[in-house]
Amino acid sequence: MKEEDIRNREAFNRYLELVSKDVDNYFCVDNFIKINCPACDGEKFTEAFTKGIFTYVLCSKCGTLFVNPRPPFKILNKFYSESPSTKYWIEYFFKPVMEARRDKIFRPRAGQISKKFPEFKNSKIGDIGAGFGLFLEELRKIWDNAEYVAIEPSIEMVKICLGKGFKVIQDMLEDINGRDEEFDLLTSFELFEHLYNPGNFLKKVNKLLKKDGYFLMTTLNVQGFDIQLLWEKSKSVSPPHHLNFFNPDSIKYLMEKNNFKVISIETPGKLDWNIFEGMVKNENVKTDRFWQLVIEKDEEVKNQFQQWLVKNNLSSHMMVIAKKL
Ligand SMILES: [Zn+2]
Repeated sequence: MKEEDIRNREAFNRYLELVSKDVDNYFCVDNFIKINCPACDGEKFTEAFTKGIFTYVLCSKCGTLFVNPRPPFKILNKFYSESPSTKYWIEYFFKPVMEARRDKIFRPRAGQISKKFPEFKNSKIGDIGAGFGLFLEELRKIWDNAEYVAIEPSIEMVKICLGKGFKVIQDMLEDINGRDEEFDLLTSFELFEHLYNPGNFLKKVNKLLKKDGYFLMTTLNVQGFDIQLLWEKSKSVSPPHHLNFFNPDSIKYLMEKNNFKVISIETPGKLDWNIFEGMVKNENVKTDRFWQLVIEKDEEVKNQFQQWLVKNNLSSHMMVIAKKL
């Protein structure tokens, strides 16, 4: 898989321009809230860099990178539900690559999950931040007997999920009430980095799961190759969307603190090298002699390097599987 298969560079850059306009309209530093580390609750951190009005700090204890101070929960929700950049993202960025994403991301993901959890083929499964319902659709093609629930706050997305025949909880996960111990398996993909309060989110996930239920999520790993090399230039480091960058140790800590047993933490990313190379070739990011040399090498060398990153938990795409205790 290549970055351009799932992300049109021009549309993405146009989207980032719109985001920067929205930031001026929706966010004001005076309202931002100071927090402790979202992973270890530590109070010591060093400033890593600023992006516009957002400051990223690095926790001195656990190495989590996070926006601090950060916009309030309510403002973030307003931004996600109505901002022009969000609408552009859905119409012009996501929709044109939706079927490519289905093929490259959601179908393989559903395949892997059905193999990992064969015991859940007749159970109750919820996808948090279900969006267009692509993951649930692909999983339903494999397991047609499970009960599927899309958990999704956006009215437009809810309509789409209902149209596809899914049950829907139309709410932010944090605001759901009266559904305790309902789910055997909950999933959330590329959502954790957006959350105002990841600890509260995990507490709620834990409540909604049955005893011995599983939670599977993906998020960004601050120790991933492209993020480490590109750092403040990384497009993954994009406020106000991406507020939290955990690492394998800090996410494990937070999971355990919230009554989960961590089953596995892997970084099965495919794009680190490709993203980095794209930034050097297309966006004038400077690199040093060694990486320039690797850029000149053939695909096989780059593929092997990507596999090495995956094997050593050094890709920026991280997957966590945890069980409710
Ligand atoms: Zn920390």
